[in-house]
Amino acid sequence: MSESFLRQQFPIFSQHNTDTPWVYFDNGATTQKPQTVIDTIQRFYSRQNANVHRASHRVSAATTEMFEQTRKDVAAFINAASEKEIIWTKGCTESINLIANVLAKGHVSAGDEIVLSALEHHANIVPWQQIAKELDLRIRVIPVDENGVLQADKAKSMISHKTALVAVGHVSNALGNINPIDVIIAQAKKHGALTLIDGAQAVAHLSVDVQALDCDFYVFSGHKIFGPTGIGVLYGRQVLLEGLPPYQTGGEMIERVSFSGTTFQGLPFKFEAGTPNIAGVLGLGAAISFARHHALMISAQEQALYRALIHGLQKIVGIRLWGEIDNSICIQSFSIDDVNNQDLGVLLNEHNIAVRVGHHCAMPLMQALGIDGTVRVSLSAYNTLDEVIYFLRTLDIILRTLK
Ligand code: PLP
Repeated sequence: MSESFLRQQFPIFSQHNTDTPWVYFDNGATTQKPQTVIDTIQRFYSRQNANVHRASHRVSAATTEMFEQTRKDVAAFINAASEKEIIWTKGCTESINLIANVLAKGHVSAGDEIVLSALEHHANIVPWQQIAKELDLRIRVIPVDENGVLQADKAKSMISHKTALVAVGHVSNALGNINPIDVIIAQAKKHGALTLIDGAQAVAHLSVDVQALDCDFYVFSGHKIFGPTGIGVLYGRQVLLEGLPPYQTGGEMIERVSFSGTTFQGLPFKFEAGTPNIAGVLGLGAAISFARHHALMISAQEQALYRALIHGLQKIVGIRLWGEIDNSICIQSFSIDDVNNQDLGVLLNEHNIAVRVGHHCAMPLMQALGIDGTVRVSLSAYNTLDEVIYFLRTLDIILRTLK
């Protein structure tokens, strides 16, 4: 396998050689980590470990400075107006749960509607279902067409003065298609509804500008963009976050505590109870710096790989390519007539090819498409054209034996 410059930055691949290839095409689930991220985490624990914000001593002060600088870097990365709008969470799932739970404390009431799309990951469905059940809210779902493409025109009739919030994914994790979130956000604004964009699959592949998007909340996970697991981001418009109550309470998020009452800190700390994932934040900072530094190379490589993948897949007899090829990040979901997805996943694994098969945490989408799952190939810039060719050749061999 040819080694690209980008690939060389990811030490996990150095343990595999041409005789034992390991083709990692499950990047939608989580990305590999470049050496700079690993080094940052190691450096923190071996030389800089101290808690943030609490102490006046030297190491804590230095660590706090790096920690808060990362918040500024993340704000710049998604063009937030202020670093106060960046809240650290465990990941996308926790970011969505945070917003659902704080909105439930007096900001939505019986009869209000929450609009989702049929493409959503379970993380952007279940938290809303939970509060809907508790508070008697109604959930409405923007449908998809027979290929899994969002029918944004239908959003018009679904978003109304009753809509409290519209929560949609920027990019479908199951199919890779990019949703017309600008149209949906504009529709929500027209009716005064809040908007939350699930950017889990977008941040690593598209440039995100939350001010241009004009969304109220934007959420993502560090591990999908070369960063560590257990760290995520909730972006929220400052004026909105200021008006919302805390999610969890305890240390770090308070201003003053006494048995007669407690006052809370301002943003962003009001939403960050307890000792944060400091190593995760610093690792995410390194990941974002890596992504920004190599943005052009990453984008060019992703496009080349995706084109080669699609070109090869389109030649397969009986294949169904889901989603919207011309409006997609480098994820492709497919099914092949008379071929069981699970069998294909197992056989590809026997050739050291890691893909994802199944419902991709999007069961309602699979129900809408009338299928039980797909095979999903999700690429990243450290993948190579040789790997795509190896995958296509292996798929061809497997299909010959199956048919
Ligand atoms: N939303 C989408 C679109 C995703 O792809 C994922 C993860 O696959 C999530 C939400 C949940 O992210 P996490 O498990 O990192 O919280």
